[in-house]
Amino acid sequence: MSTTYIGRFAPSPTGPLHAGSLVAAVASYLDARAHGGEWLVRIEDIDEGRSVPGADGAILALLDSLGMHSDREVVWQSRRKALYAAAAERLGAHAYPCGCNRREILDSRLGVAPDGAAIYPGTCRHGLAPGRGMRSLRLRVPEPGADAISFVDRFAGPMTQHLASESGDFVLKRADGYWAYQLAVVVDDAEQGVTDIVRGFDLIDSTARQIYLQRVLGVPTPRYLHVPVVRNEHGEKLSKQTGALAVLPGDETAAVQALLAAARFLGLPLERPDSLAAFWAAAIPAWSRLLDERGAR
Ligand code: GLU
Repeated sequence: MSTTYIGRFAPSPTGPLHAGSLVAAVASYLDARAHGGEWLVRIEDIDEGRSVPGADGAILALLDSLGMHSDREVVWQSRRKALYAAAAERLGAHAYPCGCNRREILDSRLGVAPDGAAIYPGTCRHGLAPGRGMRSLRLRVPEPGADAISFVDRFAGPMTQHLASESGDFVLKRADGYWAYQLAVVVDDAEQGVTDIVRGFDLIDSTARQIYLQRVLGVPTPRYLHVPVVRNEHGEKLSKQTGALAVLPGDETAAVQALLAAARFLGLPLERPDSLAAFWAAAIPAWSRLLDERGAR
């Protein structure tokens, strides 16, 4: 058992928690408890245009009724902008202003990264063209041919990404003025002392960018575990519409039902428990056994 373990669940309040995000919440919570660690909740509302008013409160209320309580005060990214600005300042010449718009980047035909972001061709790397103003702030990634970023995911095993060809110089501050997810998440995980990140596999392609940013900022790299993403019968990721959870505060039967579905999706062979307390009492040791079986502790 590790001496210090700090984990977190970091939902974006773009709608209510759905069955897919519940899997990430449950996995991160079980992993923290199985390691005798702390579990934090952070509301990732940095993209204020996508945040839905009230969704943060609904997510927190639902987590409460599922028996998942943050071990420290919940933080909101929208209130932590000074931290992101200070980190961007520390990046010095690793960061540079970019004047390109979306169309110009797509027209360069370098394609899109696995997460849908356009791969940046490096147009503004050596300075803005005359007459161009800054639209976004980008991080300069290592030149093609430099060492790739490698990490070992506790479930998926060794992973490698070449940032120059797979993302290019990526955005830290967006053209709409908001700090980008990649910067905010790295700054927050470091500032909160997070040692272990457990989240959905849809974020695995962001991990190399985050590790590179950690290195440039001189902060530790946490361990990573990416859990499978829940899909519907058409193979599509669940959305706020298709995966809505029917759990109302105080409805323990529905809470246990939702948790059991998430735990079984994660591969925990649990019988139906008759209370929330019984669910967690069975799920935490079952997660520990799963880690041991998979050599993922
Ligand atoms: N806020 C992100 C989401 O809801 C998760 C970020 C993370 O876990 O790193 O998809």
